[in-house]
Amino acid sequence: MLNSKSNIDQESIKNSNRKKILNLIAEKREYTKQNISKEIGVSIPTVIANINELLKEGLVEEAGVEGSTGGRKPIIVRFLPDSKYSFGVEFTLNNVRIVLINLDAEIKFDASFKVSDFKNIDDIIEKIHEITNNVVGEEKISHKDILGIGFSLPGTVNEESLILELAPNIGMKNVSFKRFFQLLQFPIYIENEANSAAFGELNLGIAKKMRNLVYLSINEGIGAGIVIQDCLYKGKNKRAGELGHMTIVPNGKLCNCGRKGCLEQYASIKSLMEDYNYKNSKPVSTLNEFFSRVEQKEDLAMLALEKYLSFLAIGIQNILLILDPHYVVLGGEISDFSEYYLKDLKEKIFVENSFYDDTNLKIFTSKLKKDSSILGAALLPLQKLFSINEKII
Ligand SMILES: [Zn+2]
Repeated sequence: MLNSKSNIDQESIKNSNRKKILNLIAEKREYTKQNISKEIGVSIPTVIANINELLKEGLVEEAGVEGSTGGRKPIIVRFLPDSKYSFGVEFTLNNVRIVLINLDAEIKFDASFKVSDFKNIDDIIEKIHEITNNVVGEEKISHKDILGIGFSLPGTVNEESLILELAPNIGMKNVSFKRFFQLLQFPIYIENEANSAAFGELNLGIAKKMRNLVYLSINEGIGAGIVIQDCLYKGKNKRAGELGHMTIVPNGKLCNCGRKGCLEQYASIKSLMEDYNYKNSKPVSTLNEFFSRVEQKEDLAMLALEKYLSFLAIGIQNILLILDPHYVVLGGEISDFSEYYLKDLKEKIFVENSFYDDTNLKIFTSKLKKDSSILGAALLPLQKLFSINEKII
């Protein structure tokens, strides 16, 4: 028993040294073995053994020697961001979007298709397979250099058993993604859309320096990614953050989840547009059109926005009372238009609020905008190379 435990410990130390070394080279872009040893606090032979592994896998290359003041010249190791790739796939109500990223999370390929052109999930996966296959061929990427495919899904997911449990907004329930491996042939990862976006912002975006935040994703539905001390908090059944389904109007509008008066029936993009278009002789079909009418100070648009913000403010006030986060990050499509409402929204959140004022909480809008959840999903397969601590509790 003792032996096997110590084997596990040694294995995890070895693994964590390797990840620390790779993270450092990725951050510095190129660095000498001596500097790596000094900065991480591991012996030169350990650094050399790890670098040899990374060289074999093609993640780094040796890039000459650094000018030295005598003794052995230190060998420079260079990070190769285009050595491995990963796919991110985002499901929304109407569209499926696919991106290919490299190890720097740069988008190398980006395509979308309409869900309505396909009969069912199997046909959609078939289309995804066709696209990923073409990209791999065109970009001349070896199959083994694709680390996986991460899905961002608008519903509750069990990422361990790869099951999309419930996604009322896209009409899906209990879909096993495990069986798609046979077709896609890449390791599959799945994550809830808001968690995925929070993960993206935490690693690449506005939340890089934040440890406690709620990422509020506002699209056709509303979801939240809760980050506590750098970790995504998912809850016992991995359903934490389904804030779109918190009741804000008893016996209010009927929601897709079967209950009445849920926040997303009042504060999602869909509800904002429906409210504005109701009995309107000049309806809009995009959020862009709606905000251009706000810009023109059209009465109906201003009124709809005002009503919308009042509901959204109630939702955010409830989040503050439950979690008292350091930051709230507004994401999803609505965050593209924050110049039109952020000031008013803050006023509504803090007015007559005896627990908070605007100095107690910072509200930001997403930095990655429409890319946050797809990038978060695409980062999932890269975790096994870089992540030292699993950021999920
Ligand atoms: Zn609901």
